Amino acid sequence: MLYGSFRSRLVLGVLLLVCTSVFHYPFTPLHILLDSNILIFPLVFSLAKRFKRGTDLEKISIMWGLLASCTLFRVLTPLLDGKSYSGLQTDEIVLILSMLFFRFLLGGLMIYLIESALDKLEIDERMAHMSEKFKQETDNFQQITNMVPLSIISIDDNYKITSINDTMMKKLENRLPNIKRSDVLFLPVFDLIHKLKLNEEKELDRLLEIIFLKHRFMERVTCSGRVLHIFAAPLVPQAPGQIGGMVLVIQDVTEEELIRSELDHVERLTLVGQMAAGITHEIRNPMAVVRGFLQLMREKSSSDMDSYYQIVMDELDRANSIITDFLSLAQSGISSKEDGNLHDVIEELAPLLWADANLRGQSVELKLCDSLPVLRLNIKEIKQVVLNLGRNAMEAMEPKGVLTLETRCESGMVELLVKDTGCGMSEMELEKLFVPFFTTKDQGTGLGLPLCLSIVERHGGTISVDSRTGAGTVFTVSFPYEAQEKATYAEV
Ligand code: ADP
Ligand code: MG
Repeated sequence: MLYGSFRSRLVLGVLLLVCTSVFHYPFTPLHILLDSNILIFPLVFSLAKRFKRGTDLEKISIMWGLLASCTLFRVLTPLLDGKSYSGLQTDEIVLILSMLFFRFLLGGLMIYLIESALDKLEIDERMAHMSEKFKQETDNFQQITNMVPLSIISIDDNYKITSINDTMMKKLENRLPNIKRSDVLFLPVFDLIHKLKLNEEKELDRLLEIIFLKHRFMERVTCSGRVLHIFAAPLVPQAPGQIGGMVLVIQDVTEEELIRSELDHVERLTLVGQMAAGITHEIRNPMAVVRGFLQLMREKSSSDMDSYYQIVMDELDRANSIITDFLSLAQSGISSKEDGNLHDVIEELAPLLWADANLRGQSVELKLCDSLPVLRLNIKEIKQVVLNLGRNAMEAMEPKGVLTLETRCESGMVELLVKDTGCGMSEMELEKLFVPFFTTKDQGTGLGLPLCLSIVERHGGTISVDSRTGAGTVFTVSFPYEAQEKATYAEV
């Protein structure tokens, strides 16, 4: 009753009362009252909480206290039947006293045994919980070491491999396809290095020495064409009898090194580009002065010199247009954009293209789709793209050639197709297309297409070319658009 809950105490109490009533003789309520110990039930109920919280000694004392109360009622029962204790023999007294002694001894012993059993159970439970937690932590740690893009390998005091993570295993499998984790575990690390033929690498000599001496090491080494960042550290045993050894962490930084050197290169190029842009911009001013004076001199000279002046001025204009294209190309990647529709841009430029085509005896056709989504565009730059592609197409065509501007909207892309029926391009020309200053024209700058590409890329788009010699060319400019923009279609 003391160990149970309130309800179980109640059930046990009722059960005891019923049993005493059924099996008791003489069957008088007073006998039952005294023998069933019902009178000490309130004491049991009130002490139960304290009992549960108490130490072993307190529990035994409570138990003895309750046993003493029970014994008192037991002693009183014969008195109720009119018997007296005065005529007791010595052996009867000894028997009663020894019964009392054993009663108390057994009561205490029982508490002690129950407590020891409960303690053992609790310790077992705690141990099971702790080992489960430890297993979980170890699993988590294993998963973490397997997930990191670092090759981790640990060795014991005898240089035998004790653990190896998945990244390292994959690296090993690349070099030795049939190798398994079980082949590597507990293999001396120098044997593995030998298998991988790494002992032939001069750069790794120091690493081998460091492993042998179990020293701390952090260095960048080149091994079989890969740049490796190697970190080695000894494992210090935390308690006597624990294994020491060493851990090796290897990071392959070949790609990062490559990107770093490319970035350095790009930075240098950007600097050169910025200087070139500054210089070309400054050249414009003296050129404007020269052109102005040439114009003046032309007016004052005889008319037979006119053609010479014209040639000089045309060349100056050409130099100026190269500078304009170059400066647009060198412009920074950020340009202000607004909501715009590609159809509006094309329709605005159409009269200009028609006039140009008319002069060459060519024609322009527009095949615009029903509706296009609104895009974030820098209208001025997009006009430049359409004009450059349109002009290139016209320059590639003979009279009677047809330039077609077509638009379509497909799978998240708005596409502008600039088609011509011109000379087309050879494989070699296609390879060099978009390379600055590549031109096949006498008067060309070779900056038109690089400029178009840089503008389109700034809009998150792409340009693709389909061309065959003699069969014409199609330039496809694709701009991505967000799915939600589909809702804001603008009618043609
Ligand atoms: P430019 O027009 O000043 O030559 P571009 O960068 O605009 O410079 O064009 C580079 C070269 O690409 C042209 O010289 C030409 O050889 C080729 N090209 C461009 N567009 C076409 C086209 N539609 N058809 C054939 N060749 C083209
Ligand atoms: Mg051009």
